[in-house]
Amino acid sequence: MALIVQKYGGTSVGSTERIKNVARRVAKWQKAGHDVIVVVSAMSGETNRLIALAQEIQKNPDPRELDVVASTGEQVTIGLLAMALKALGRKAKSYTGPQVRILTDNAFTKARIKEIDAHRIREDLENGNVVIVAGFQGCDSEGNITTLGRGGSDTSAVALAAALKADECLIFTDVDGIYTTDPRVVSNARKMDKVAFEEILEMASLGSKVLQIRSVEFAGKYKVPTRVLSSLTDPDIPIEEEEESGTLITFEDSKMERVLVSGIAFSRNEAKITLPHVPDVPGIAYKILGSIAEANIEVDMIVQNASKDGMTDFSFTVARSDLDKALKVIEKEVSPYIQEGGVLSDPSIAKISVVGVGMRSHAGVAAKMFKVLAEENINIKMITTSEIRVSIIVDEKYMELAVRALHKAFGLDKETRSMEQSRLMH
Ligand code: ASP
Ligand code: MG
Repeated sequence: MALIVQKYGGTSVGSTERIKNVARRVAKWQKAGHDVIVVVSAMSGETNRLIALAQEIQKNPDPRELDVVASTGEQVTIGLLAMALKALGRKAKSYTGPQVRILTDNAFTKARIKEIDAHRIREDLENGNVVIVAGFQGCDSEGNITTLGRGGSDTSAVALAAALKADECLIFTDVDGIYTTDPRVVSNARKMDKVAFEEILEMASLGSKVLQIRSVEFAGKYKVPTRVLSSLTDPDIPIEEEEESGTLITFEDSKMERVLVSGIAFSRNEAKITLPHVPDVPGIAYKILGSIAEANIEVDMIVQNASKDGMTDFSFTVARSDLDKALKVIEKEVSPYIQEGGVLSDPSIAKISVVGVGMRSHAGVAAKMFKVLAEENINIKMITTSEIRVSIIVDEKYMELAVRALHKAFGLDKETRSMEQSRLMH
């Protein structure tokens, strides 16, 4: 007998029919002798609808009141699911976040969980209940309702699993797991059976479509065994089969066999800014990036080249949606440093990252990546690396070609990606 937290997202509870299916699946686990805590999202589209309502009243809704409104979607689904379980003859009890007392800070619309009071949940479980908790919400120390940011139910689930020391946190969703890359771009992208949590953090652009990134951070911090799997299979499939499905996020940092590259993430949401001719003296990077940071614009990659005649060039990337704002800031704050070259910007770039914990102990992933791109005649505009990631910027129009070529070259389309297969082939 195990303690299992199961989370069902908006699509999985998108209709009363689907809620009944969730109840059947949950009942199956409980009948098998497990203690089950279920965390649910609002029915799909509901949170958007609620936020739109608020915006009809106030263009920028008051954050405290927005949370009061936005958190109600989940309250509907917990009640409906509890009824569906009772209709199947199961004991069930639903709670909102504040009722459990999921204590958060007071950052409305993006609150962070500080503490969870588990005693009521434990009592209910002991009495044979399925405990159903509304995702995405909690309350601050003064009892104000807070929400955890879009997609926050994942974080509620993982945090509950951590607080109750659950044996596993199962994130049921409308895809069957996490893929080596986006299957819409690479048709033979493969579902991963396992992925290291650090890889998922790096692959934010892949993983975050499936999981709120904060939930992954939580899983990593408290080592919560977390599995992403489909809620659209037959709810009565055998538990053993269900337990083997999906993608398991792992934490072992052992020397065990590791594939070099696990996945390829990419993002079109990038733009590059270059100041081609700035003085190569202390304080210039601070002057440029300081003013950008002050405007609350996030900078991703930064490159400064060699200096010539006391001048250098300085490039960085921002989210494409921030480009105009960033250019205005530079014009205003940094203009004394902008010399003849002016400011160059490029809104049509894309970022591609090759990620894998295995590359930590093997040199040459970057070299192989560059070779593949050279063979495709794709120009690399910027490069950054970390221990487990190599990221490049290319022209957006070559992005898909590059992702496909890299996916193939690193053997990610192969059934078994053994160390040998994905080792560097020169
Ligand atoms: N219902 C919330 C949202 O749509 C939270 C969630 O689904 O995880 O963002
Ligand atoms: Mg989600």
